[in-house]
Amino acid sequence: MSEFDYDLFVIGAGSGGVRASRIAAGYGARVAVAEEHRIGGTCVIRGCVPKKLMVYGSDFAHGLEDAAAYGWMIGEAKFDWNVLRDFVASDVDRLEKAYTSTLDNNKVDHFHERAVVIGPNSVRLASGREISAKIILIAVGAWPVLPEFEGNQYAITSNEVFGLPEFPRRVVVQGAGYIALEFAGIFNSLGAEVTVVNRSDQILRGYDLSLRERLLQIMQARHIKFRFSSPIEKIVKEGNGTFSVHTEGHQPIAAEAVLVATGRKPKTEGLGLETAGVDLGPLGEVLVDDYNQTSCPSIYAVGDVTNRVQLTPIAIREGHAFADTVFGNNPRTTAYDCIPNAVFSQPPLAGVGLTEEQARTQLANVKVFTSDFRPMKNMFAAVPERGLYKLVVDADTDKVVGVHMIAPEAPEVLQAAAIAVKAGLTKADFDETVALHPSMAEELVLMR
Ligand code: NDP
Repeated sequence: MSEFDYDLFVIGAGSGGVRASRIAAGYGARVAVAEEHRIGGTCVIRGCVPKKLMVYGSDFAHGLEDAAAYGWMIGEAKFDWNVLRDFVASDVDRLEKAYTSTLDNNKVDHFHERAVVIGPNSVRLASGREISAKIILIAVGAWPVLPEFEGNQYAITSNEVFGLPEFPRRVVVQGAGYIALEFAGIFNSLGAEVTVVNRSDQILRGYDLSLRERLLQIMQARHIKFRFSSPIEKIVKEGNGTFSVHTEGHQPIAAEAVLVATGRKPKTEGLGLETAGVDLGPLGEVLVDDYNQTSCPSIYAVGDVTNRVQLTPIAIREGHAFADTVFGNNPRTTAYDCIPNAVFSQPPLAGVGLTEEQARTQLANVKVFTSDFRPMKNMFAAVPERGLYKLVVDADTDKVVGVHMIAPEAPEVLQAAAIAVKAGLTKADFDETVALHPSMAEELVLMR
């Protein structure tokens, strides 16, 4: 008999926690997981999945507009927010069940309550029950940060946006990162008046500059307003469900919803990690080594709570590597180079590897190839929006070190390009590849 109730106790049933639980259980470990919200975590319940469904839902607006050029006579089209919201919610329910079945099928016990650490090998559930485990995995993720300003209780975050009781006719979005621009696009396409306000004078800090400029130009052409260097000072509640949003140096903006998307912070507050001597960083992130081990040898952490790269596929890889290392006798780390990423703005933006700006500071000689094109589908429907692809090449080795694109379906194209960058293929390899015609993706092999 083991001296512990479980071999592994996981706190947080999101992408990282569920993967780690399943793989560890597959190695024969006795595993339990505690989740205070819903099984599936941010990505499945209130992040990537419902967001992508809303992007799909909202993008029909443009398809309907363009359809006439292709001979479709469509009467007056009406959008019903309640239908989209409720279908998205039911799909999230379906996925939560699928994730729960994964735990059940792998004989992982699950507790639907908050758990906190009370020592190197013990946790306490909200019900008061104490459980011991040889290893504890912290996979509690991150939580939206709400900046301090008067009336911030009237703002919503990405946690609440999927459940809005009514469609807001006017929306103010604070922030100009992933979440802000994705939702600005969704609400704009669905017919709301959208104003994006940001504290700095740029969008998507860190992304390739030419792509950011192109996205800003298209979003403005789609009538999304931007107020830069103008963070929210206060929100005043007016009558009829309207808010007055005051931002630095401007007239107040009237809106029915104010979405704040100013980053996400590791969710370690009150988790009791100090009782086990787990070191935290300045944002509350759990500090770990390459094998996801914390300063307390029996406690590990994966995913957003470590604030390394806040992306689902990375949390999954870290969770898998943790389980292989600790329970599968196969020590594994996670590679953080060449992580493909996308912003599901409209149009979307996607990239992998070094941006042009990064390459110019890190490499001796850089060559950049671009294709600035009007997608055939846009041309036919008289939509002026242009796509932009960029290849960043190390001129000394001819290796393609970065691919960046903004265009319809860019994330779908980028995933394949990421294989080439990860594999270290050269610009000559790209040139040798026959174009797939007619497609947007063919631009990738036609840049000279
Ligand atoms: P981001 O870090 O992407 O953007 C934060 C934005 O908020 C920036 O524009 C920043 O301004 C602004 N900001 C930051 N702090 C403050 C503050 N105190 N007051 C006012 N403005 C502020 O965060 P998100 O919330 O959009 O997303 C969080 C993370 O979730 C992302 O980093 C990403 O890892 C992940 N995510 C990924 C998605 C994807 O892969 N498609 C989709 C959604 C989320 P500035 O920097 O200009 O000063």
